[in-house]
This record gives sequence, C-alpha cells and structure tokens, in this order.
Amino acid sequence: MKFTNLTRANEIGANSYLLEFDGEGRIVLDAGLHPRKEGEEATPNFGAMGERPTDALIVSHAHHDHIGALPLFVRRREKMPVYLSEATYLLAEPLLHNSVEVMLKQRASLGITSYPLFTHKEVDRSAKAYRVCRPGQECSIQEDSDPKGAPLSFRLYPGGHVLGAVGVRFRYRDRQIFYTGDVSFQEQTLMPAADFPLDGIDTLITEATRGGKETPENQRRPMQIERLISSIESTFRRGGAVLIPVFALGKTQELLATLHLEQKAGRLRRCPITIGGLSRSFTQIYDRLAKRSFRRHPGLSLLGDVAPTVLDGRLARQLSPKPGELYLISSGMMTEHTLSNILARRFLPEERHSIFIVGYCDPNSPAGQLLQTSRGNLVALDSELPPQPLLCEVEQFDLTSHAIREDLLAYILRVNPRLCVLVHGDPPALAWFQERLREERPGLEVVVPAPGEPLEL
Ligand SMILES: [Zn+2]
Repeated sequence: MKFTNLTRANEIGANSYLLEFDGEGRIVLDAGLHPRKEGEEATPNFGAMGERPTDALIVSHAHHDHIGALPLFVRRREKMPVYLSEATYLLAEPLLHNSVEVMLKQRASLGITSYPLFTHKEVDRSAKAYRVCRPGQECSIQEDSDPKGAPLSFRLYPGGHVLGAVGVRFRYRDRQIFYTGDVSFQEQTLMPAADFPLDGIDTLITEATRGGKETPENQRRPMQIERLISSIESTFRRGGAVLIPVFALGKTQELLATLHLEQKAGRLRRCPITIGGLSRSFTQIYDRLAKRSFRRHPGLSLLGDVAPTVLDGRLARQLSPKPGELYLISSGMMTEHTLSNILARRFLPEERHSIFIVGYCDPNSPAGQLLQTSRGNLVALDSELPPQPLLCEVEQFDLTSHAIREDLLAYILRVNPRLCVLVHGDPPALAWFQERLREERPGLEVVVPAPGEPLEL
C-alpha cells in the first residue's frame, strides 16, 4: 500500500492525497484549491499520480481547499465516481459555480489567462459522477459489488467540522486506514462533535491545523463567545457597527445560530444582521438538512428565525456601516477584492466601529496583517490602494472549527495506530505533533509525507 501527498508543500493548501491499495484500488482523497495562490500553482500536483486510472475520488467536506479542484480532476476521468456525504453533495454546486465566477473576475482584473480553471458546464458535468454515501454505510468502489465480500471497502464518519464533513475509514484485507479530513472534537453551536472510530485502525492520516496553538481550559469556546457578545454590546453602546469576516460555509451559519441563541437568552440585543449572497445559498442548505443531517438545533431555521439581510454584491461598494448593525461577510481572511475586504476599509477610519476576527488567519493575509497592526498605525488591506490608519477596534476570538491540539493528541493516543501520517498543517504545527507523539508513544511511527514522494504504508 502507498500514500502520496499531492499538495505542493507541507502546509494548509490545496489538499489532495493518493491512496494505492496494491493492484486493488487507487483512490484520491479530496481535490482542493490553495486559498492564497493563483493559476496552476493553486492546484494540487495531480501530475505526481502518473497516468494509471483512478478508481474513485472521496471528498471529505465542501471547503474550497478540499473540493475546489474537483471539476479539474474529474475532467479526464468522466467514468470515475466521486463519493461524498449528502450535505457536501448539495454544498458543492453553489460553491463551485461561485468559484468559476470569482476566477472569471480575476481573469479580467488581474489578467490571469489560465482562469477560469474550469467552466460552469464542467461543474454541472462533474455532478453526474457524485455518489452520496450515508455515514455508517459500508461502501465499495466497485459499485455493483457487495462491500462485505470486497477486499477494499470504506465508510464515512461524521467529522463535526462543518455540515457534511466526514472522516473516511478504509478496510483493506486485514488493514484499517483512517483519514480524518478536517475535524472538530468539540461541539459547536450547530455541529455536534466528531463521531470517529477508535478501534482497529493501524494507519491514521490526520489533519494537524492547530498543532502550533495551545488552547488552555479558560480560553475554550464558551468563554470566547461570552467575550465576543460583550465586545459586540460595547461597540453598539458607543454607536458603532461590527464587521465579522467569515467563511461563507460553516462560520457564517455557526455565528447566525450563536447570535440568535444569545439574543433569545437576553445577552445580546436584537439587531439587523447582514450576510453575503453565497452565504445565503449555503445557509439554505443548512436549513434544508436541519432534521436530516448531523446538526444540532434541528428546529432552528437560520433564514426563517434569524432572518438576516442578504447583501447585494453590486451595492456593497456603496454600503456604509450603520450603528448597531452586524455584518457577517466573507471572505474570512479578508482576501483582496472580496466583500469583507472592501467593507473593512470603511470600518478602519472610525474609532466607534469594530472588526472581530473569529477564524483561522494566515499571517500574510489582509486579516492577518490587520491583527499585527496596532491602533493608530497604517495598514494596507489592498496592495493597490494607499494604506489607511487603523482607528477602529480590532479583536480576535478563537471560534475554531478544527480540533484543538489537546483533543487531537488525545484521539491519536487513544486510537494508538502503528503509523500516523500528519497532513494539513504548517511546519510548526506538524513539528509539535511529531515531537509530542515521540515523547508520549516512542513506538509509534510518525511521518510528515514529503509532497510527491510515495510513502509505503
Ligand atoms: Zn475545512
């Protein structure tokens, strides 16, 4: 058996991994696009796979860095099935069509001639390959064969991270390999904690996002929410507005639910909340699957009960922040030319306003740059525009949807595999897990797979 890391560097980038089960199956896990790179550089290194046919693609969840290159990968493999959960199946369509639109805009504004990497037609064509798997159902990559008798089968397990996120357990002869995808072992407002297998796994392929960050008991989610609510309230009291840059999928819906529950409990005043158009499409799917999928508060309809206003992208350029209003706008890292970046530039020069960062931020992204700037100094959120003085309040809250390293370490030790393969982490995060696992379990083999080099499992 072999594992090949198809990313172009050991980092949180364009996730994609190849698993080869001797002659009996060749499966790719995820096909993402790098969130901060452009053109070919943003795609996984599919060239490292060689020319042999692929039997299946399994997608862990609908975040761009796990699914964004799907139409590209499916392009010359039209007979190959793509396995995913029902929610990922539904979320994929608006996400990938939006991606085509973004690439068309970037082609026009930045002159990236390779864009779009795929077309709307290809997004629709890819959907023909989708096969929905229910968590808990044993599946075979030979579609007509009984998974019980097959040498290779797989099963999806709820990963908690966002709606539809799953880990994948492969059973191959007498071996069991588990891929975590992105996981959260803490429950969030809408997503329950992951429900992952513990026994019999000999090889664990795990994300390592939070390896570089300690999360003490007194800084966990409930405390972060309490601080966020009181910071929103104090902004409103001084006549300001609040901008929270968020991922359209996951963080937007978690925050809509959290703010709603805090309002119901009387800890936060009722206030107008604005979200973006793509977020609305994803929120609709969260509502549609409220009772059917792995989701908490099944009676809560986000679009019905929270009733956010949807921002028309064309009007965003004229929008000015209104006192006592909340804006949950993507992108989460305030990438240049996105609505949150455009809006943030209107918040910066006014002391009464606030920008609250609640998710993962690359230090080189505009949101990362903002966090490193002290009040009163200049910051450039758009490299083509002059820098502005930062006068509004900027704060960070840790509302992560990834496993905190304390939980992930405990999970790895509980599973106690023979081999642990670390992916989806920046070098310091990977190094922390390597070191801690070496100390705690000297017999456990821990590997950070070099991009493009097959690793014998
Ligand atoms: Zn993710």
